[in-house]
Amino acid sequence: MKCPFCDHEDSRVVDSRPAGDGKAIRRRRECIACGRRFTTLERVAELLPIFVVKKDGTREAFDPEKIKRGLMKACEKRPVALEEIDTVVEEIEHKLVQAGEQEVQSTVIGEMIMERLRKLDEVAYVRFASVYRQFKDINTFMEELNKLLRDPS
Ligand SMILES: [Zn+2]
Repeated sequence: MKCPFCDHEDSRVVDSRPAGDGKAIRRRRECIACGRRFTTLERVAELLPIFVVKKDGTREAFDPEKIKRGLMKACEKRPVALEEIDTVVEEIEHKLVQAGEQEVQSTVIGEMIMERLRKLDEVAYVRFASVYRQFKDINTFMEELNKLLRDPS
């Protein structure tokens, strides 16, 4: 890393600490030539985008904001903190990145959301599921509701 003051090529690290939720490392460096100090931020290079394959076979770039919007809608007027919603979104994103697949079926993401939402708030879960699974009629909706009542986990 070139010194920003004198362009010297060498510097030594005098301190390093995690930054940004541990996703980056902040290093305090000292130029070997001029002795001045500067800070560098090291982070993982941007990962390849993940594409979501929708039911009709089309693809779109994975967008965590979209998941968040869906969750917020489902959790409207429910006792679910924004922080909890953010955690769900982060968990899902993290899981997808870890899986290392470039493509993921939208249904897989939908199931991941529902699995977490169910633990968070049952009303929000049913709301989300009814939109997501596009319940065709009241019977399919009741089936889902009954499943929930039978197995309250
Ligand atoms: Zn220097």
